[in-house]
Amino acid sequence: MTPLSRRGMIVGAAAMAGTATALSSGASTSAAPRERHDDRPSRAVVFRDVRPFGAGKPVDLTVVDGRIVEGPAPRGARVVDGGGRVALPSLVDAHIHPDKTSWGGDWVSREPASSIAEYCEQDVELFKSQKRPVGERAYGLMAHAVTRGTRAMRAHVDVAPAYDLAGVEGVADARRKLKHALDVQIVAFPQHGVVRTPGTAELLEEAARGGQIDFVGGIDPISFDHAMDEQLDLVFGLADRHGVGVDIHLHDRDEKGLEVMRAIIERTRALSLRGKVTVSHVFCLPGLSDAELSAMAEDLNDLDISLTTVAPNESLVLPVGKLQEHGVRVGLGSDGVRDAWSPFGNADMLHRAHILGWVTDVRLDDELNHVYDVAAHGGSDVMRLDRADLKPGAPADFVLVKGEGAPQIVVDMPQRDLVVHGGRVVARDGELVLP
Ligand SMILES: [Zn+2]
Repeated sequence: MTPLSRRGMIVGAAAMAGTATALSSGASTSAAPRERHDDRPSRAVVFRDVRPFGAGKPVDLTVVDGRIVEGPAPRGARVVDGGGRVALPSLVDAHIHPDKTSWGGDWVSREPASSIAEYCEQDVELFKSQKRPVGERAYGLMAHAVTRGTRAMRAHVDVAPAYDLAGVEGVADARRKLKHALDVQIVAFPQHGVVRTPGTAELLEEAARGGQIDFVGGIDPISFDHAMDEQLDLVFGLADRHGVGVDIHLHDRDEKGLEVMRAIIERTRALSLRGKVTVSHVFCLPGLSDAELSAMAEDLNDLDISLTTVAPNESLVLPVGKLQEHGVRVGLGSDGVRDAWSPFGNADMLHRAHILGWVTDVRLDDELNHVYDVAAHGGSDVMRLDRADLKPGAPADFVLVKGEGAPQIVVDMPQRDLVVHGGRVVARDGELVLP
């Protein structure tokens, strides 16, 4: 877990007084006057001596009311010295499970598991064995993600009788504590099945009614729940009644996956949920022929159904570029992080971009730039956030790193020296800056 730091407050106060503060220098801030720090984003901040995307000469990035603006800085703007660092858009984690994590706790030795039901049992065991409540564990992981340059995430949170709504409440609490630094959407995820686990449907209903969730989830309606129409009718019905979206896990690699996709498309159309549905993993798509993939992508684009991938390996990663050519929104995510399912994961989306590049065997700078774009903008498209592309009008969400440009940075994964969210410094030298 990332230790919390209050150092940023001192730098913030110095900058408010108009003092240029080098990132690497803490000493020059010692005499800075302390000023009141409130929740409002600072009106005008200049990030001096930065190189957007690593190209060209260093420039000043000016931020007013949380957005990048053109032209010189207004008088009295705070100044933060970028020290010639590269500025890149902040990243978006389109699929993560913060409630399941053991991040920041003792090492967990995992038992063999070969079915979703067995993984679920180990999820419950891990949940019960953790000394820290779910909100504290989720906060630790989400804060760590901020320090790695994540501006937003879609959090899938287990909802099942084994937990009641403890996961949703814990992650919602962590979201509140990090609201200055991170935009979070919560999915009520029926990991234990909707139909096969009695009581789950009622909990999903309660979560949707309570206003803490943005999406209702689903999981392998045929192969795990053995009740495709029943699960999908229930999930889509909830979304329709409560005005939330749908984000369904779909792991089937064969015809069963395609059958579910057709059923999802049908319901999205019938209930007019255009633009409000996401399907995650979708392992049945990578094996399709170009013609089959094009036909599916046309339907997805028609109903604006978005997809997410965690780039698990060469054969299961979604063909992101081809889907995007058809106008399909595709996000990249971490999936589980050090949970019962896997000892791996770190909620670092630059590392996930590196993995996407690795499993898709990219080599050219254009390809590496695209990998970075998927990690930064793919998820913001899925989450319906404005792209943080460093252009005038864009949200001032960016990272400052030492490096040459996105291709080299995807490969080398340097430390995120400064993370800025809405024009506010939210992490410095790998540590969270408290509001
Ligand atoms: Zn997942």
